[in-house]
Amino acid sequence: MRIRDRLAADGGGRGVAGPGEAAGVMAVVVMKFGGTSVANIERIRNVAKHVKREVDAGNKVAVVVSAMSGATNQLVAWVKEASPNRIYDPLEYDAVVATGEQVTAGLLALTLQDMGYKARSWTGWQIPVKTSAAHGAARILDIPGEDITKRLDAGEIAVVTGFQGIEPTANRISTLGRGGSDTSAVALAVALKADVCDIYTDVDGVYTTDPRIVPKARRLPKISYEEMLEMASLGSKVLQTRSVELAMVYRVRTRVLSSFVAPEAMRAVDMKNLEDIGTIVCDEDEIVEQQVVSGIAYAKDEAKVTILKVDDKPGVAARIFGPLAEANINVDMIVQNVTPDGKQTDMTFTIQAAELPRALEVLKKAKADIGPFEVKSSDDVVKISVIGIGMRSHAGVASQMFKALSDKGINIHAISTSEIKISVLIDAAYAELAVRTLHSTYGLDGD
Ligand code: ADP
Ligand code: ASP
Ligand code: MG
Repeated sequence: MRIRDRLAADGGGRGVAGPGEAAGVMAVVVMKFGGTSVANIERIRNVAKHVKREVDAGNKVAVVVSAMSGATNQLVAWVKEASPNRIYDPLEYDAVVATGEQVTAGLLALTLQDMGYKARSWTGWQIPVKTSAAHGAARILDIPGEDITKRLDAGEIAVVTGFQGIEPTANRISTLGRGGSDTSAVALAVALKADVCDIYTDVDGVYTTDPRIVPKARRLPKISYEEMLEMASLGSKVLQTRSVELAMVYRVRTRVLSSFVAPEAMRAVDMKNLEDIGTIVCDEDEIVEQQVVSGIAYAKDEAKVTILKVDDKPGVAARIFGPLAEANINVDMIVQNVTPDGKQTDMTFTIQAAELPRALEVLKKAKADIGPFEVKSSDDVVKISVIGIGMRSHAGVASQMFKALSDKGINIHAISTSEIKISVLIDAAYAELAVRTLHSTYGLDGD
């Protein structure tokens, strides 16, 4: 099923009404299990029991698995170790890092077979999950769902490797970027016209902020696609950003659940009643009690660059940011300060920390064009964001944020806003204090 063609055909509407909804009995369910959920054979057996529950209830199940926790990190480290003298070939990086998921898919299929079920594993290239050629961060373009659908109809469980696909032109394995199995699961749900995409992880839902940082964080029974998209793109890694984009465009009912709840203690998917566990990502009009601020996110992989004393004349911003854009370096926050005499300006902006060396190189090369300047940079910064669709209709959220941070003596280096979020850049040392403070400030603390 072509991801883009379906978008055109369905007009982006609720395109995944499946047989379960029509018949009211059986649902087509995509279940995704993350790295900690498949970390060893015992946990894979636990995953198989979650799958068993759904199959025994009459649901048709496709499972998407990540690699065992830590496996992908190890594979990435080996790639770097094998090519210390040059920037490694992205095609071979993908060939190596995609292997972690093949192991868990095969092991889960074996476990299910051992329990008496018909199960078969599938890698990205076998399905095939066709992607763009952006190796290491490829986008899914097309997943033909017909063959898997036939197998589900015949009572087989499909176990699919997350995180990967194939770039058809060069016929090479591709990967979707870290955390990409979430995206594999949502895309597969679109291709199979699934009723629901259940993302099982090590927390029992989406929380007001990362529960590892703030023990008082609360589980949100529902969160809108828009807010989840902001949370994910601003650093909450519970769902990969692209997976939320896809879920939003195709209106995939997506839930976040814990695989560590005993499989027998959970009810099988019933399309008439999905909402009593985990978090459901849904349309904003389905959320009755909307808070002004729903969540707080933080991103540690930020870097700040300041260009000092550059001539303040028309076109200078274009001469700085043009070459960065050409080099595919994404600039996020931008602050400009004109010197008191009005002749020169300082320009501060943020980029991904991993891009810092490349950005400095690009600026050096562009110096002839930009004119003389000094440059300072640091990756010892974090971006803290407050998110909520209620901000559209409430004033004062930003000033509350600035006051709360200043009361704690936390200095703000840069600010950016959109309709439903405010982000600030602060020193990394204050990250946890800032998240905790803002969590209380907006009344999000639970017991
Ligand atoms: P998986 O391996 O299952 O994909 P991840 O580690 O990618 O799991 O994502 C789950 C983690 O996301 C949780 O353990 C939690 O620490 C983190 N997280 C960050 N922000 C949030 C949030 N707002 N709600 C829930 N979890 C969050
Ligand atoms: N195994 C991959 C990673 O660690 C993909 C995923 O877990 O979603 O990034
Ligand atoms: Mg993940």
